[in-house]
Amino acid sequence: MKRPNILILGAGYGGLTTAVNLQKKLGYDEAEITLVNKNSYHYESTWLHEASAGTLKPERVRYEIKDVLNKKVHFVQEAVEKIDIKNKRVVTNIGELTYDYLVVGLGFEGETFGIEGLDKFAFGITNVNDARKIRDHINTQFAEWASQEVSEKDDSLLTIVVGGAGFTGIEFLGELANKIPELCKEYDVPKEKVRVICVEAAPAVLPMYSPKLVNYAIKALTKKGIEFSVGTPVVQATEEGVKIKKGPNEFEFIKASTVVWAAGVRGSRIVEESDLPSKRARVAVEDDLRVPGYPDIFMVGDCAFLMNKETERPYPTTAQIAMQQAITVAENLVAMVKGEETKTFVPNLKGSICSLGNSDAIGNVFGKEFTGKSASIMKKIIDNRALYFIGGTSLVWKKGKLNLFK
Ligand SMILES: Cc1cc2nc3c(=O)[nH]c(=O)nc-3n(C[C@H](O)[C@H](O)[C@H](O)COP(=O)(O)OP(=O)(O)OC[C@H]3O[C@@H](n4cnc5c(N)ncnc54)[C@H](O)[C@@H]3O)c2cc1C
Repeated sequence: MKRPNILILGAGYGGLTTAVNLQKKLGYDEAEITLVNKNSYHYESTWLHEASAGTLKPERVRYEIKDVLNKKVHFVQEAVEKIDIKNKRVVTNIGELTYDYLVVGLGFEGETFGIEGLDKFAFGITNVNDARKIRDHINTQFAEWASQEVSEKDDSLLTIVVGGAGFTGIEFLGELANKIPELCKEYDVPKEKVRVICVEAAPAVLPMYSPKLVNYAIKALTKKGIEFSVGTPVVQATEEGVKIKKGPNEFEFIKASTVVWAAGVRGSRIVEESDLPSKRARVAVEDDLRVPGYPDIFMVGDCAFLMNKETERPYPTTAQIAMQQAITVAENLVAMVKGEETKTFVPNLKGSICSLGNSDAIGNVFGKEFTGKSASIMKKIIDNRALYFIGGTSLVWKKGKLNLFK
C-alpha cells in the first residue's frame, strides 16, 4: 500500500517541532515525511533581537536542521513559492512537491500597516539576515560619525528610532541599551551623542503586562538612556528619519539614520497569495488545527489564527503556542494515518518573560510576576527548553544559554 505523503512547509518552531514529533511517532512504513525550508538552518526567532543589536553572534541563533532529524524525515532546502491547494502541490524555486497531508508553518513577516516609507527605509527584525543587516548598519553609522571632521559631525548617524513598544521592540531596546556603551568605546563616541528613541502609537507600553511590570521596564531602560515617545504614531519614514504625530495637527520629524520597525507582524505572503481563506496572511483553523473545508491541511504557528473562546480574543502568535500546536498537529497526523479521530488543540499558556538585556527582565509566569535577575534566569531556562524539545540535551549543550547568572 502507498504510504501517505506528509509535507511540512517551514522549519521554524511550528514546522520543525511537527517534524521532530512525527519522526518519533511514525514508523518508516507508515508515512513519507518531507520538510521544506529555504535555509539549511533553523533559527531561534525569539533570539533575533540579540543578533540584531550585536549582543549575540548570528551563528549562535541558528543550527543545521539535519542535526535534529533522523532518516525518517526527508529534508529539502527549497524556497516555497506557491501553495496550489486545488492540485495538492507546492511550487518551489527548484520544482514541485505533492502531498496527501500538508502542514503550513511558514512563519511571520513584518507588518508596516501601509505607513509610507517604512518598507523602504526601516529595518525589520524577522530573520537572521535582517538581524545581521541591522547590526552591521549600526556599526557603520558609528564608524562614519567617528571618521567625520569635528566641524561636520552629523549626530543623526547616532540616532536610532525603534518603532513599537511591544515585546520585540522592548527586547531589542534592552539589548541596544547594553550594546551602546560598547560601541561608544569601540568608535570613540561620547555616549551623550547617542539617542535611542522608542516610538509607540498606542497609549501604553507592553500592554500584556501589569502597570507595575511596565513601570519597572520603562524605568530600567530610561536609566540606560532610552527615550520613549508614547501615543505618537509614526506616519512616515524617509531616508532622513521618521515623522511622528504628536497631536491632531502637530508633527515632529526625528532625524535618524537607523529606523528599526518592530511594531507588528503578519503571516507569510505565500499563505496570503494561496487560495486558503486568510486575513493578514493568517488562516482561521478548526479546533484540531485543520483548515475548515480542507481536512488535509494543517496550519501551525504564526500562519494560524485561533480564537481563545474564554477571552474572545485571538491567541497571541508566539513560539510557545507554535510549539504546542505542532505537538497536536503531529498527534493528529498520526491519528489520521492510522484512521483514528483527531483531537482538539488545548493551549497551555504558561505566561511570558520579556527580557530587558542580558541580565534583567520582567514577566508573568503561572500567574506570578517576576522582575530583575530571577526573571532573566527564567527567560534563559525558557530559551534552553525550546532547544531541548527539538534537539535534546546535545542541542542545549551546543547552542544553549548555559550561563544563567550572567
Ligand atoms: C525578536 C523576537 C522576540 C520574540 N520573543 C518571543 C518570546 O520571548 N516568546 C515567544 O513565545 N515568542 C516570541 N516571539 C515570537 C516567535 O518568534 C514567533 O511567534 C515564532 O517564531 C513563530 O513560529 P513559526 O514556526 O510560526 O515561524 P518561524 O519560527 O518564523 O519559522 C518559519 C520558518 O519558515 C521558513 N520560511 C519562511 N518562508 C519560507 C519559504 N517561502 N520557503 C521555505 N521556507 C520558508 C523560515 O526560514 C523559518 O525557518 C518573538 C519574535 C521576535 C521577532
